[in-house]
Order: sequence, then structure tokens, then C-alpha cells
Amino acid sequence: MQKLIFIKYGELTTKKGNRNVFIKKLTNNIKNILVSLNYTMKSDRSRIYIESNDIDLVVEKLKNIFGIHSIVIAYKVDNNSDTIINSVLELVKNESFKTFKVDTKRADKRFMIHSMDFNKMVATKILKNMDVSVDVHNPELHIKIEIRVEGTFIYFNEIKGLGGYPVGIQGKSLLMLSGGIDSPVAGYLALKRGVDIECLYFESPPHTSVQAKNKVIGLANIINKYSGNIKVNIVPFTKIQETILRNVKEEYIITIMRRMMYRIALKFAKKNKMQVIFNGESIGQVASQTLSSINVINNVCDIPVIRPVACMDKLEIIDIAKKIGTYETSILPYEDCCTVFVPKHPVINPTIDKCKLYEKSFDYETLIDEAINNIEVVSNLENNYDDIL
Ligand code: ATP
Ligand code: MG
Repeated sequence: MQKLIFIKYGELTTKKGNRNVFIKKLTNNIKNILVSLNYTMKSDRSRIYIESNDIDLVVEKLKNIFGIHSIVIAYKVDNNSDTIINSVLELVKNESFKTFKVDTKRADKRFMIHSMDFNKMVATKILKNMDVSVDVHNPELHIKIEIRVEGTFIYFNEIKGLGGYPVGIQGKSLLMLSGGIDSPVAGYLALKRGVDIECLYFESPPHTSVQAKNKVIGLANIINKYSGNIKVNIVPFTKIQETILRNVKEEYIITIMRRMMYRIALKFAKKNKMQVIFNGESIGQVASQTLSSINVINNVCDIPVIRPVACMDKLEIIDIAKKIGTYETSILPYEDCCTVFVPKHPVINPTIDKCKLYEKSFDYETLIDEAINNIEVVSNLENNYDDIL
């Protein structure tokens, strides 16, 4: 008996026209995530098969991959009725259950016994050897037997996959990633819809610490579990921030700072052929996220900015952060550049005209180009989050 994993595509199979592209993307993503493991992988139009000596670890990693409907641990045997029946018996002896049901699917019509008859043969064998009974409506153990041309697969439960689309199927976008709770969740949600992301983080040393930066890299590392392909671009933001502090009235500091962040994100995205920006803004959460602020800040940007958590309550965002494993890192205390310079009374109804007036007082284009030219790139993130703080 050969133990292996197979993956069901689910939603992908309904996308007939694009099916090959989907499968190719998904298999590539699986390769990225399993890079450190020994395994072999084969795919056909309906599923992907993976063999490995480390099945449990592979399954753990597959649970983080978008585009997978379910993961099945199966046993493959020859298409011989006695072999199948004996193998099923051997396998169910390791399971604890009182009631069961057998479901046979006979895709290989050369196998002469009809599915219903074969269900009965298997059930009879189990009933003779174990103290259990059949329950076709609500069985504790659902025994599935698939008789296919290449062999017979026996399996019980399916492990639910993450669903969504394979990362990258929607091209690449830029995620503004801070050390907070919201933006890693926004990144995760982007990945879920098949959007590959690259991260942009603004740091302001010495006002922000190395720990703050490592925290962001740590967060990128965690969401990389769902991608395998993430890079973090670190923008030196100190000079711009200090210039803003010197030239802008206190209540407008954050508004202008965010317009500068958006300008840098926009320029960087265009340079790298990314069509969309993602961030973790949530309506009303802070002064810079009122609708007027979002309008005034967004005004400097002529590509779409998608805010996956815009309409979520903080508690809903926290729930996702906990589920995806970013929460514990996000709540570490190190401050970001947004939090070190928060004025006492930030404007909640800024106007574009006032922003333009303040921005006339310094040459931000040169500063922006300089910041972009000095971006530090952190790539080759680990699949597994090692504590790098
Ligand atoms: P988060 O919890 O995601 O950090 P927040 O509640 O702290 O969000 P803000 O600080 O106003 O809210 O930031 C809103 C969004 O702007 C963040 O979610 C993130 O996408 C982006 N952002 C803020 N600070 C930075 C930064 N230093 N580098 C990159 N992006 C940032
Ligand atoms: Mg923040």
C-alpha cells in the first residue's frame, strides 16, 4: 500500500477556460512552499498527487496554500478486489469509529464489480471482523474508494483547504505593510484572491527602531507562509518625515506624510509594473482614515488602492490576524513612523488645497526619488516564521 496525498482543486475546476493556467500556478506555488522538503508531485486535470516521506509536514504546509479545496491522505493499491477489500480492513482497524459507510466510485470500467455491489462486499468484510455497524446517513467513518485506471485510492476524511485562488493568478500588487494588525491581514486577503504581493515598508531611523523593522520583516515572513514569494522593500523615510515636521502645520503632518507614502508607493508600483496598491486602512479607525482623509490622501494616486479591511471592525480584523498567525507579532510594542509623530489634534477634515499649499514649501519630488533609489530589499524570506526579533 502506498500512502500519498492528493489535492482537489474545487473552485478551479469550474473555471474551465483557465484551468491549465490555474493548475500550473498552483503547482508552482506548491513547489515554492515545499521547497525545503523531499517530495514528488504529479498533476492531472482533476487533481495533484504528492508523495513524500514526510506526509504530515507536507499536509501542514498545504493547508496554507490558496486554490486548494481539500487535501486528502490516501492509500493507493492495485485494482484487484481482494487487495482492495483487505487493504480497507487493515486501514479501518487503525481508526476509532462505531458507525461507517462505504462509497465506491468506479472510474475504471474494466473493474467488473459495480459500485453498489462493491460497497456491500467491503461493508460485509468489515462487519464480519469488527464490532461496528453501517449508518449511511451520519457515519462516523466515511470510507471512500476510488477505482481509477492508474490504481485504487482508499481514503477517509478530507482536510479542508484554504480555498481562494492560487497566488499570482491575478498578477502582482504592492502592499503597504506596517507593523500593525491591519496591513498583514489586508495582505493575506489580497493573497486569498490570487494577488501576488510585494511589500513596502517606510522606516524612519533613528526615530523608529531596528526592532520595528524586524517586526515588519517578521510579519512578512508569516504571510509568506501563504505565498512563498514575498519580498519586503524598505524605504528610508526619515528625511521626508523630518522635512514635513519642519514645514507643515502640526494638524496636517499625518495627512501630508501619508500623501508622501502614497506618492512613493505609486511611483514604486508603476516602476515595477504593479497595477494596484493594497493597504490596511479601515474607515474611521484613526483621523487619517475618515472618508475626507482617505479622499485627500488618495488624491495623489492614480491607480486603484484596495483596502480589504476598510469595512471591518477592529475585532473582526483581530480574529483574522489570530487565525493567520500575525496577531502576536503585530502587538509587539515597537513603534512605526506613523505612531512616533502623531500630533495631538490631527485634522479629520483635511482639504486638498491646504495640502498643496504645505507641499509647495519643499521639494518633495527630489526627496521621493532619493528615497526610492535607496530602498533596501529583503527577499528570500523563510517559509517558516523563525523568531527573528
Ligand atoms: P496597521 O495596524 O495596519 O498598521 P494602523 O491602524 O496602524 O494600521 P495607520 O498607521 O494609519 O493605521 O496605517 C494605515 C495603513 O497605512 C496601514 O495599514 C498600512 O497599510 C499603511 N502604513 C502605515 N504605516 C506604514 C509604514 N510605516 N510602512 C508601510 N505602510 C504603512
Ligand atoms: Mg500602523
